Amino acid sequence: MTAADALDDGSRAVLEHLGRLRSADAPTHGGHVLSYVYDSGLAELDALAREAGAAVQPINALDPTTFPSVAALERGVVGFARDMLRGGDDVVGTVTTGGTESCLLVVKTARDLWRAAGGDGVPTIVAPATVHAAFHKAAQYFGLDLDLVPVSADGSVDAGAVVDRLDARTAIVVVSAPCYPFATLDPIEEIASAAAVHGIACHVDACIGGWVLPWWGDDVPPWDFRVAGVTSISADAHKYGYAPKGASVLLHRGPDRLASQFFTTTDWPGYPVVNATMLGSRSAAPLAAAWAITQRLGADGFADLAARCRRASETLVDTVRAIDGLRVVGSPTGPLVAVATDDAVPAARRVDPHHWADEARSLGWVLQPQPGHVQSDGPRLAATTHLTVTPVTADVLPELIAALVAAADAVRGVPAATATDALGTLSSDLLSAGSLDAATADALLGALGLGGASPLPDGIAPVMALIEAVPSSLAERLLIALLTRLSRP
Ligand SMILES: *Cc1c(COP(=O)(O)O)cnc(C)c1O
Repeated sequence: MTAADALDDGSRAVLEHLGRLRSADAPTHGGHVLSYVYDSGLAELDALAREAGAAVQPINALDPTTFPSVAALERGVVGFARDMLRGGDDVVGTVTTGGTESCLLVVKTARDLWRAAGGDGVPTIVAPATVHAAFHKAAQYFGLDLDLVPVSADGSVDAGAVVDRLDARTAIVVVSAPCYPFATLDPIEEIASAAAVHGIACHVDACIGGWVLPWWGDDVPPWDFRVAGVTSISADAHKYGYAPKGASVLLHRGPDRLASQFFTTTDWPGYPVVNATMLGSRSAAPLAAAWAITQRLGADGFADLAARCRRASETLVDTVRAIDGLRVVGSPTGPLVAVATDDAVPAARRVDPHHWADEARSLGWVLQPQPGHVQSDGPRLAATTHLTVTPVTADVLPELIAALVAAADAVRGVPAATATDALGTLSSDLLSAGSLDAATADALLGALGLGGASPLPDGIAPVMALIEAVPSSLAERLLIALLTRLSRP
């Protein structure tokens, strides 16, 4: 008997309802969504992940002594990741619920070690400005200062500029392999070796690259545990490890770092609490799925999928470079491409990346807009549209390329949306108001035409213009209001 056979009519009706809700979602398979989802193109892997998750559904990954399968699965995934990231026997680690949790935990670990070593005052995280927002979150959650080093317009950072920031307050320096916004591979060897000289932790955020760069090719400079000064690496199994959401690995060089990652207490009347990660009770399903996929694919299977990603990425880079009015930002290392306006051509031939994304969406392709960004003491970073390439992208390349070209043709010469388009006639007092309460934020959203019964806008270009135009504290407050609105009962 299968699980579906056990359902009665009431349950079937509930599932039909769920199916109707799901039909509003962007398609997770078939390569039409170029962010958030990582489609191997292998239906077998999805079925395997589903069955593996179902097999452990009832257990609680909180306690691997009661459920030893949890420990066995974790040993399997950590062992696979350690080989993949070229770590030796001294490299140990855990499976977390995602990239953000891995990033949060490595910062907490570094902060605690920094304090234990006599660090005094407020510790810092030093990182290129392209570091993932998860480190902004970690700084906020755990009370560190985030010291961002400006990057060039192409997304690259000068290693010396990063090294110059390292001092007695630095608890950790973070580099990316590659960074999410522009797929830049940071100068990891130079930065890690300087960090080692100062005894500072050096984390490689390979959340997105960790499960694909190991097989990318010999032209990638060393960025993993082969680099002596690297003390930890995060790599998300739920990205290019093709596992369902809820699985990442965080590996440390040496058991002492891992010990510092734990939270433990015997100081309450209940069971002794020993948590490597942030949650208490948690699902083992994503762990089991990640494990099953590594068993099934092996290194050779991952290498094949990485090769498909690489070929598709190179074709897309060539495609974008050939589209008049668009350009690729920097030189991506890995299966991500950031696309900006080519300012070198006359205005009438330029293509705004957000109008382009909106147009591509109307043709059935979901690309990810990234607003322009003003660095505090560096060049302005252009507005871009981001494409995450997966193995299945290779199967749909001709249609995708045709859509990207057609979308550019449709919006070529249309100027970027401006703050006035976005803000209309709103008074400037409203916009310069300090911290907004929920009612004012809601009213402001409504005035922007975003607060109605269906609060999402048709096109994303004006929203990006809004984010660029207003102070970030206001943009952030409005985004909270928008998202709260979506889930308000
Ligand atoms: C995706 C990503 C993260 C955060 O991971 P989540 O799984 O979304 O929480 C961190 N760093 C990089 C470079 C990423 O690409």
